[in-house]
Amino acid sequence: MKIAVASGKGGTGKTLVAANLAEVVSRTLDTTLVDCDVEEPNLHLFFGGPATSAEVCVPVPVFDLEVCDRCGKCAGFCRYGAITVLQDRILFFSDLCHSCGGCMLICPKGAIREEPVRIGQINISHPSSLLTLVSGILDEGQPHATPVIRSAKEHSMSSCLVIFDAAPGTACPVVETVEGCDACILVTESTPFGLHDLRLAAEVADCLGVPAGVVINRSDGRDRKTTEFCTTHELPVMMTIPFDRKIASVQNRGELISRRSPEWQGRFSGLFEQCRDLAGVRR
Ligand code: SF4
Ligand code: SF4
Repeated sequence: MKIAVASGKGGTGKTLVAANLAEVVSRTLDTTLVDCDVEEPNLHLFFGGPATSAEVCVPVPVFDLEVCDRCGKCAGFCRYGAITVLQDRILFFSDLCHSCGGCMLICPKGAIREEPVRIGQINISHPSSLLTLVSGILDEGQPHATPVIRSAKEHSMSSCLVIFDAAPGTACPVVETVEGCDACILVTESTPFGLHDLRLAAEVADCLGVPAGVVINRSDGRDRKTTEFCTTHELPVMMTIPFDRKIASVQNRGELISRRSPEWQGRFSGLFEQCRDLAGVRR
């Protein structure tokens, strides 16, 4: 089963939910936790242990100007505007290239070949006997996060239970992460901004056909508008985490509330059971 943990905006407590859920379920089930927030991965802060690394590379075109006759077909084909053909040279804008390989296929002269270029890496560690942590890390300055997320997802394929911690927002990295999952936990706060972003995140899950439920974090008890929204859109509220300085202070020390408190351990077990219900998994 694959569970995505997402939120329409940053700072809602998405990582808190993903880390505690993985901590609790990995006590009895073989679990892989995948950090898909590749521009700012931080799950490794909660799970120690040595890691092995693998590079993530993407193919980019290289032009042979001796063979090229400047026909301009490659530039005309590239919908991302990554190629400009001039009389005496070709300008290639690597930040715009999406590594689709189309220019190489369309070149009538065979003047384009591909070369791999590193854009990030995957770190893999085993914090406990049943838990594997896969962290995607995008190199600084690299514009495209999705190939790193795709690679991180591929490294988790052998596990029977995978929990993906998505990037905040609703852009391509989130779509790449949530797509193909069996259930999606949407983490929100009961503020006007939180509700606005929950609406967008719920739309993404809906468009991808992934059943979703909601966790309300930092609740001050005034969650009526959020719960009304959830009722209207048939999104079950699976858990409410109160606004509590003790929880924040445990988190800030790199600890997990489910490690320290049997009550929270039970509550995250309950969250997992609800994810199974969402995904239609029989117990
Ligand atoms: S399609 Fe090939 S031959 Fe034509 S401009 Fe591009 S690289 Fe040169
Ligand atoms: S590989 Fe695709 S995106 Fe990159 S330059 Fe060629 S056509 Fe454009």
